[in-house]
Order: sequence, then C-alpha cells, then structure tokens
Amino acid sequence: MTLDGPAERRDEGQQAAMANGNGMAPLPPRMSGMPSGAALHSDQRLRLHPNTEHEPQDYTDVRGEYAPAVYSALELHLPPSLLEADRDDKLQFMQNILSRYWPRGERNKVQRHKEYRQKILHLYKPLHEELYSMHASAFFLPTFLEAVRTNTKESIASIMAEPIPGVFSFPMLQPKFCDMLFEEVDNFESWVHAMKFKIMRPNTMNKYGAVLDDFGLETMLNDFMEKFITPISKVFYPEVGGGTLDSHHAFVVEYGKDRDVELGFHVDDSEVTLNVCLGKQFSGGQLYFRGVRCENHVNSEAQQEEIYDYPHVPGWAVLHRGRHRHGARPTSSGLRMNLLLWCRSSVFREMKKYQTDFSNWCGECQREKTERQTQSVKATKLAFLRGVGGAMI
Ligand SMILES: [Zn+2]
Repeated sequence: MTLDGPAERRDEGQQAAMANGNGMAPLPPRMSGMPSGAALHSDQRLRLHPNTEHEPQDYTDVRGEYAPAVYSALELHLPPSLLEADRDDKLQFMQNILSRYWPRGERNKVQRHKEYRQKILHLYKPLHEELYSMHASAFFLPTFLEAVRTNTKESIASIMAEPIPGVFSFPMLQPKFCDMLFEEVDNFESWVHAMKFKIMRPNTMNKYGAVLDDFGLETMLNDFMEKFITPISKVFYPEVGGGTLDSHHAFVVEYGKDRDVELGFHVDDSEVTLNVCLGKQFSGGQLYFRGVRCENHVNSEAQQEEIYDYPHVPGWAVLHRGRHRHGARPTSSGLRMNLLLWCRSSVFREMKKYQTDFSNWCGECQREKTERQTQSVKATKLAFLRGVGGAMI
C-alpha cells in the first residue's frame, strides 16, 4: 500500500547504514577474508562514544564507496585495542562493519541513481533558471508569506481551512510560479523524450510525472521545506516529527487524457505531505481521505466522520500526515498537474521503532484505547456495585 519510489528505498539504505541503534555495532563471530590483525579484534565492539583524544589516520588515498572522512570518523569509535593496529587492519575492520549495515545491493542502487542524476544535471538545460533557487516573494502569495513570517500558531491558522481534522488547505503559490513549474516539467519531459532517456517515475503507482529532485530542484525544495513547511508542520503535526523534518522526496504527478487517470487508495512514505495543484484546466480529480492509520491498522474500516473529498484548486495546497489514507478520483477531462513534497523526519522514524501505541495520531489506535478505557471503567463500576450489593446482603 505504501508508495515507495526509488528515492525511498535509497533512503532506507542510508538509514540502515547509519542506524546502529544505541551506537554499538556487534560483530559476527567470524569474518572471512579478514587479515589476521583485524581478526584478532573480531569479537570486539565499537565504542558508543568517540575517543576524541585519538588522532585518526589519513585515509584520503582510499578509493571506494565511502568518502575517506567516513573512515576517519569511524576510527574514533574503534575498540581501544585496535586503535594502534596497522592502518590496513583498521580499514578492513571498518569496511566489514560498513558492508553489514549497508548491503551491496543498496549501495549499487544508490550509486546508479547518483550517476543517473549527474547525467541529467550535466546535460539538461533548464527553461526557467529562476526556479532553481528560492525567491520567496515570486513563488508564494503575499498572504501565505506574511502568515509564515509572522510565525505564530494564530498567524498560520488564520490562512487555513481544516475541513476534516488533520487536513489543512490554504492558498499558497503564485499563478506565475505554477505556470513556470508546469512549463519546466513539460520542457524536461520533452528533453527526456528527444534524448530517448529512460526516466525514473516518482513512485510505484504513477506512470507519468517526474522527480523534481532529479533535475536540479533539490536545493530549492529543501529550502521550501525547511522555511515554508516546517513552520506549519511543527504547529500542526508535532507528534509525527513535524518539527524535525530533515529530508524530502519531491515530484509532480500528471492526470488526464494520455496521462494517469486516477490514483488508488494508499498512504505516503512521508511524515507530512504537501500537495499543491499547479493547474491547469480540468474536472474531477478530487482527493479523497479515509482516516489516519499506523502500519498495524492501515486496512481497518474508515469511520463516517473520516470520509472527506477535497476538490483541487490551482495554487492551493493541501497538507496532511503521510499516514492519512487517501487516493485521487479520476480526472475526467483536461490536464491536471500537482506538486508533491513528501517530508520526512529521521528522528521520528527512529523513535517509532520503539513504540507500539500510536493513539496520538492513528485513528484506530485511538479508538482501541478509548474502548479499553470504557471497558475498564465499566469493570470498575461493576466491581463497585457488586461490592455494594455484597455489603447490603
Ligand atoms: Zn494504529
């Protein structure tokens, strides 16, 4: 059910590489092909805290998948007995650890994607250069800018409608910006077509559309998220990492004749999703919502009060939690393009691993919790009545 585009799998790989839980990386009992020096230390663990007194060796001549700085940084965490070992032994020890936390398949995928992006960046000539860095007053409507710059809950809430709990809609983008982005994507797709270049689509569910981060817009969109989404999401979605967004996946989707028609029911691979309609003329294409759910409850029934259809308006944004189940109704005529920004928080993802109750945001967890509380109150009352009854007899 999750939309997991190539970018997501890539991120998971990176997370796996970094996420060694409490900072300890237990080693396998036997690591084959390891020089004897490193093998002597194979039963030892990395230190949780870096040894800041230790001066790491120089790895600048080491070629391969990791930057030399990675080895210098990791050396500070080596077991004390390995610190004075030969550089090659230390290197082998560290390479073994890194390969366990970031499997070769993932590394190859990341490498291929990096080369794919570099090729595009090298060859593609942007149509509207001004889109590639942040020009807030040219991109955003004055009302939106004023609300975000004032940066209070009241100022932000003043421009928002909340038609159903957790879904916010507001006028956001200048018509000129929408047109330019529309044209830039068109230009990119024509270039892709002319070059007979095989492009990666935004996710597993859309056959049309393009990943904006792949053709040079990543830096601008990072600014977009940090300066213009985080101020809102930290107010409305603190419980899902809205205040600690630190990466994104940005793309456009296209609906209509000769494009995608509709989009099935799903959840996004994001903590917070921004969805802005860029235009142009179309009918249909409403975004339907069916309640927020954690992974355990993703297929549970929607409650009547969770059912809501949102009609897209060019320039208007919808903001919702990534786990808010939704889909797009058929775009019955015209052409519709939407900008999607999947915003993620690595802090939230790490914390979520240790939790089982998501009643502060999952509608179903919440209902189960209320049910448990109701049962417990009933049981207490019953026990009390029995006690009273017993006393009366
Ligand atoms: Zn749940």
